[in-house]
Amino acid sequence: MAKLYFHYATMNAGKSTMLLQASYNYRERGMSTMLFVAGHYRKDGAGYIASRIGLEADAEMFRDGDDLFARVAEHHRHTTTHCVFVDEAQFLVEEQVWQLARIADRLDIPVMCYGLRTDFQGKLFTGSQALLSIADELREVRTICRCGRKANMVVRLGPEGKVAKEGEQVAIGKDVYVSLCRRHWEEEMGRWRAEDLIGFAGAE
Ligand SMILES: [Zn+2]
Repeated sequence: MAKLYFHYATMNAGKSTMLLQASYNYRERGMSTMLFVAGHYRKDGAGYIASRIGLEADAEMFRDGDDLFARVAEHHRHTTTHCVFVDEAQFLVEEQVWQLARIADRLDIPVMCYGLRTDFQGKLFTGSQALLSIADELREVRTICRCGRKANMVVRLGPEGKVAKEGEQVAIGKDVYVSLCRRHWEEEMGRWRAEDLIGFAGAE
């Protein structure tokens, strides 16, 4: 039976590189894959998935309201599809995650989703919440904080390099994201000060 996979991570963990490598492995064996990427923050035109190390591939864009099951089923009718890949899966709506589950369950095609777990405020994205709820396999893509610990949070730096504490879930523009461990994320967000520990017995 085909499965629905969710590979989740914070920013800059190499998710797109992993996706493109996995798709390449299928195609190298003469198999066919279908690639999707979020179209929410892109201009019209051809979609593509690009990785930081230079790999790139064409992809179809998905937006709210698109029926991904219908699109894959239609494509599969004339071109046998061996795997479906979805990048920026955090932008899926819940119903689309169910459509992806049906691609696995009814068409027997594995679906590999890659995306961010949480936003810069530490809140789950809609698509990620649905995927964490119903995917068959959850796989964490690891990256590290400046301190060497696992980074599972992200901060957003605004135009002047200041950490954003409020705002839209997604900023369009030149904002920079930095992946941090939870401990350093709380410090950068101003939610924890070292003085807070004073007075606790056994505190380091
Ligand atoms: Zn850290």
